[in-house]
Amino acid sequence: MVSMAPRNVIMQTDKEPSATDGMVVESDSLPSAEVAEPSKRRPVQIVWRNVIVMTLLHLGAVYALILVPQSHPLTWLWTFLYYLFAALGITAGTHRLWAHKSYKARAPLRALLALMNAAACQNDILDWSRDHRVHHKYSETDADPHNAKRGFFFAHVGWLLVRKHPDVMEKGKGLDFSDLYADQIVMFQRRFYFPLMCLMCFVVPTVIPWYFWGESLWNAYFLAAILRYCVGLNATWSVNSFAHLWGTRPYDKRINPAENLSVALSAVGEGFHNYHHTFPSDYATSEYGWYLNITTVFINCMYYLGQAYDMKTTPARVVDMRKQRTGDGSTWKVQ
Ligand SMILES: [Zn+2]
Ligand SMILES: [Zn+2]
Repeated sequence: MVSMAPRNVIMQTDKEPSATDGMVVESDSLPSAEVAEPSKRRPVQIVWRNVIVMTLLHLGAVYALILVPQSHPLTWLWTFLYYLFAALGITAGTHRLWAHKSYKARAPLRALLALMNAAACQNDILDWSRDHRVHHKYSETDADPHNAKRGFFFAHVGWLLVRKHPDVMEKGKGLDFSDLYADQIVMFQRRFYFPLMCLMCFVVPTVIPWYFWGESLWNAYFLAAILRYCVGLNATWSVNSFAHLWGTRPYDKRINPAENLSVALSAVGEGFHNYHHTFPSDYATSEYGWYLNITTVFINCMYYLGQAYDMKTTPARVVDMRKQRTGDGSTWKVQ
């Protein structure tokens, strides 16, 4: 597959990864000794507020499905487009730009991505990126916020319903987040996160259909805010659950993350998870560039608009060598 990647990308080297790097170019880290025996694990402390909020959200999303037939078709379209808008705030913004620094973005794009991120309501950029760097560094250990070794439910949503394991905070202290604290847009979004989140996640998606095509506020709220938000959350969580448990491992068979087509489609290009954990700095999160990868298409478009630059990619030679060395021999790509 020929990649549509812009030409002046920064090529990653095949240097040996350093054990002290938070984000190594080619990751060779395997689960280490930081996994406690299940029997030695401290009892979980349930956060009932989160349990109630998540239960109500999912009930609201089911109710929203009942409203679909009586809603305006433009509201269906708006809900879908706003889903993409918010999802890209997570994937192109918080994940690939801020957590991994896999490309650079000019201030207008960073400001837009910060708003898009608020529309997804998955915590502010700083918190999300911090959790994610810890996830990569300590994958499948107690320091991994959504350690998939604790089962599907924990990796999917359970981790948000209980207090974090102390290792998450403890090990997280050893990582460098100074770049995030130095980004004024990240800090502005953190400071005003609550009003921004209310505006972008609930008010804007509800008011637009009501104002422009006369949808009822009730229908607009349940479809474009509640249902869209709930599906977006589950798509993101699927990367931590489905794509950490099921799929092929063409790049590194020794790790849990896998290539999972359904997750790639629902999470707008984030299901190539075996590749991503093996080459975490690659802006495309896949050796196939923009193929089934809306997020990479978006970043490429931003490049052509002069807003994104210095995208990092992994040379095919390095990918092939790694496949031969540690892959499971599978070919993932659907032709
Ligand atoms: Zn990642
Ligand atoms: Zn992962």
